[in-house]
Amino acid sequence: MSKHTFEQYAISSTVSQIIEGLGFKKPTPIQEQVLPPALRGESLIGQSHTGSGKTHAYLLPMLNQLDDTLNHVQFVITAPTRELAIQIQEEVKKAIELAGKEQVWRSKLLIGGTDKQKMVDKLSSRPPHIVVGTPGRILDMVKEEAIDLYHAKSFVLDEADLMLDLGFIEDVDQILVRMDQDVQMLVFSATIPERLQPFLKKYLTNPVHIQIEDDKPSPETMEHRLVPLRHKEPADIIVEISKAIQPYLAIIFTNGKEHADKLADELLSRGLETGLLHGGLSPRERKRMLKELQNLRYQYIVATDLASRGIDIQGVSHVINAQMPKEEEFYVHRVGRTARAGLQGTAINLYKESDLPLIQKLEKKGLTFDFYEVKNGEWKEVNAYNERENRERKASDLEKKAKQMVRKPKKVKPGYKKKMKQQADKNMRKLKQNRFKKK
Ligand code: AMP
Repeated sequence: MSKHTFEQYAISSTVSQIIEGLGFKKPTPIQEQVLPPALRGESLIGQSHTGSGKTHAYLLPMLNQLDDTLNHVQFVITAPTRELAIQIQEEVKKAIELAGKEQVWRSKLLIGGTDKQKMVDKLSSRPPHIVVGTPGRILDMVKEEAIDLYHAKSFVLDEADLMLDLGFIEDVDQILVRMDQDVQMLVFSATIPERLQPFLKKYLTNPVHIQIEDDKPSPETMEHRLVPLRHKEPADIIVEISKAIQPYLAIIFTNGKEHADKLADELLSRGLETGLLHGGLSPRERKRMLKELQNLRYQYIVATDLASRGIDIQGVSHVINAQMPKEEEFYVHRVGRTARAGLQGTAINLYKESDLPLIQKLEKKGLTFDFYEVKNGEWKEVNAYNERENRERKASDLEKKAKQMVRKPKKVKPGYKKKMKQQADKNMRKLKQNRFKKK
């Protein structure tokens, strides 16, 4: 967090009032870097994660420029998922309320899954000042001539990398060709993949590039537990795990919505109060779920990768992979949902033999997995089985000796395994040097 306050910026008293109402004392690092160029109307690329305060990094400068005497769309905010769009719209509404402008500043949520014709009729009667939505529906409304975005001052592309992955960049492109060439572009993305470059080059000339390093623990410093499935039902194991952990909030990941539905039902029928978040829910169901999550109604929530991306779910203490993801990148994204706001994060993975190649790849990246089982509500450290055992058997005598030389501390603290491993590596180097000297 910065040592500066918001007072250093050229912001209106109304925006100051919003900031005060939100209780923000200091700008976050991304806000500190984004606010000055954004307030000057410059285009920029902001590289940072959800939870960094990026929503207000673009929202506050926009509201600062809002001219309510103009009767046209001034700002367009696009997000790749309905959930994220809903969440942004809620922030916009909150800000409007805090500014005391409920009757003056108009913001409209344009997402799929709602009656299109109704939306067209409503928009045609009175244009909003701010549009928040998913690219597909916004484009629909532009094509239907329900809204005209030509006079908009700024365009936000949130989670640009996910937009690209989901194939929404074409829709964004279609929207942008219908807008003024000089529109201020505010692009936010966790990563800037090479494939995004043509788009960025097309719409942003000499943008300010802002990159914020996350200060939350990296996956390497988290605890990763592996629990063998061994033909058991994931729901049974998760119920056992629930007796051994006290999560503030645990996200349980499945691959796809069918599995998510099934697992949530099974957990509920076993008495575990569980929420559900995936792309197949109706907009109303999703909205309700996000509200309930904010109100801490659940300790457990079953989610799919897509539904959880970009959503700021506070206080996730555990990530449980009921199914391991197919790719390393997804694993890193999933476990990245924990350990926010200084909380320690734990990932618990129910794995099958077929997951071992992925686990090995992650180990190569520097992640350390520990093998556990849960019995009678208690964790029990176990030996790895199958491939893992074989791999260990193959470890050289030297390695074994190096390991044996490390004493387990009497009192174990988080991260002790890593420390022991570092010590073993050090011993290994020493043993090798000694052998060399003897030779
Ligand atoms: P975001 O990355 O936009 O999803 O924001 C993450 C969380 O940080 C949200 O709950 C915001 O309300 C909160 N937040 C944003 N900016 C600040 C700030 N300057 N001070 C404190 N909290 C903030």
